[in-house]
Amino acid sequence: MKKELENQLKNIVKKGLVAVDEPMSAHTTFRIGGPADYYVEPTFEEVKELLFFLKKENIPYTLIGNGSNLLVSDEGIEGVVVSFGKEMSEVSWEKEVVRAKAGILLSRLASFAASKFLSGLEFASGIPGTLGGAITMNAGAYGGEMKDVVQSVTVLDGDEIKEYSGEEMDFSYRHSRVLDEDLIVLEVTMKLQSGREEEILSSMKELNKKRVEKQPLNFPSAGSTFKRPEGYFAAKLIEDAGLKGYTVGGAKVSEKHSGFVINFDHATAKDVCTLMQDIQRIVKEKFDVSLEPEVRLIGRF
Ligand SMILES: Cc1cc2nc3c(=O)[nH]c(=O)nc-3n(C[C@H](O)[C@H](O)[C@H](O)COP(=O)(O)OP(=O)(O)OC[C@H]3O[C@@H](n4cnc5c(N)ncnc54)[C@H](O)[C@@H]3O)c2cc1C
Repeated sequence: MKKELENQLKNIVKKGLVAVDEPMSAHTTFRIGGPADYYVEPTFEEVKELLFFLKKENIPYTLIGNGSNLLVSDEGIEGVVVSFGKEMSEVSWEKEVVRAKAGILLSRLASFAASKFLSGLEFASGIPGTLGGAITMNAGAYGGEMKDVVQSVTVLDGDEIKEYSGEEMDFSYRHSRVLDEDLIVLEVTMKLQSGREEEILSSMKELNKKRVEKQPLNFPSAGSTFKRPEGYFAAKLIEDAGLKGYTVGGAKVSEKHSGFVINFDHATAKDVCTLMQDIQRIVKEKFDVSLEPEVRLIGRF
């Protein structure tokens, strides 16, 4: 049975990768996660046929980008994990409009824009995700967010390819219609402004310096664990609750930045979940504020 589906997948994904029982810890920045039954990295040409096939055959699938906002269950993921990555990372530009495929890394996209003297993506250069993941989450940092630059997004909605304008994407804080409607982001156009290359590069360098100073980048994590609650900062609430350095198994609230849970010693997804639940309970008890996870939990939880 397993061999049969593997062969069917290999018939569609000929250039890209098909793997069986692939450990997801190798594909998440948390370095946590049990095996995906099947793991596939299709090319742009293969992705539509692959997704049509999975839908027609009712095979469960999960889409991922760079795995930088994910906590994958220790028991792994049922069905097929479809990874949008380097096989889908073409980028081009015309005047002030950059067009890119969903798998491109934001760091590469921002450097590409800078090399064409285009400003607007500096804020995104240090976010370790793909463009598709950033559209899904309306990723943002240092006062900028994807919402500010997106002109249009090409998505797969069921069997249909649709194009939405930036406004139609319903972007809000760490949210877009991709999450509500299970859309698949294929391609994005972004409207930037002409600028000076040295200024764009120096602003990117400055922002990345701030990240290195403030964030525990020497440990695996998935970035900010919780969303910013209205009127508060999650990191401050966690710190004020006395939870800096709080540990469950191999997972810990970072001592450098309380907003981050880090995998400091072979943490399991269970360790991280228990830690997150403890934080939510204690912060609620002390400050009557509910923390909502920003990290997305996927797999057999
Ligand atoms: C050290 C560190 C720092 C971070 N800093 C920031 C920050 O400053 N700002 C910020 O916003 N985030 C930050 N993050 C979180 C993360 O990088 C972003 O949320 C990023 O946008 C996720 O992109 P990804 O490609 O890794 O998506 P993944 O984590 O792989 O997936 C996230 C979600 O998007 C969905 N998805 C991915 N690709 C597609 C697609 N093509 N179509 C439809 N759905 C898709 C997945 O199904 C999942 O639900 C940080 C993470 C780390 C580890």
